[in-house]
Amino acid sequence: MKIDGRCHCGHVSFEAEADPETTAVCNCTDCQTISGAPLRANILTRPGTFLLLSGEPTVYAKTADSGAIRLQGFCPRCGTALYSTSVGDDPKAYAIRLGAIRQRNELVPHKQWFVRSQQAWVNNLDSIQKFDKMQPR
Ligand SMILES: [Zn+2]
Ligand SMILES: [Zn+2]
Repeated sequence: MKIDGRCHCGHVSFEAEADPETTAVCNCTDCQTISGAPLRANILTRPGTFLLLSGEPTVYAKTADSGAIRLQGFCPRCGTALYSTSVGDDPKAYAIRLGAIRQRNELVPHKQWFVRSQQAWVNNLDSIQKFDKMQPR
């Protein structure tokens, strides 16, 4: 399917082709730290289809414990996490962060990576009190 999206401030926008079946959740500790969240959801683009429509992401080259380098793209103005990808030239695939995609309500994860570092409570969200908006404290 065709997907498109943008960062929170609108500086960076993009489009790509991606198979919804590749939507997945990653629980690795790097994703937890870099996203500032307990887990991160991604969809993998078809190689060579990721296109920047506006703006220029800042790229952080992350070296994994394995030695593999992954480029992490985010908006230089608002900090929205946009994607990760491999080092090198196109055609390559991008793992786009679900939260930045306009069609995210249609995308449901099919796999969970790195469950050994998963925060246990994410499996019990239904047991946590729910409200439609944030309560005054
Ligand atoms: Zn932005
Ligand atoms: Zn991860």
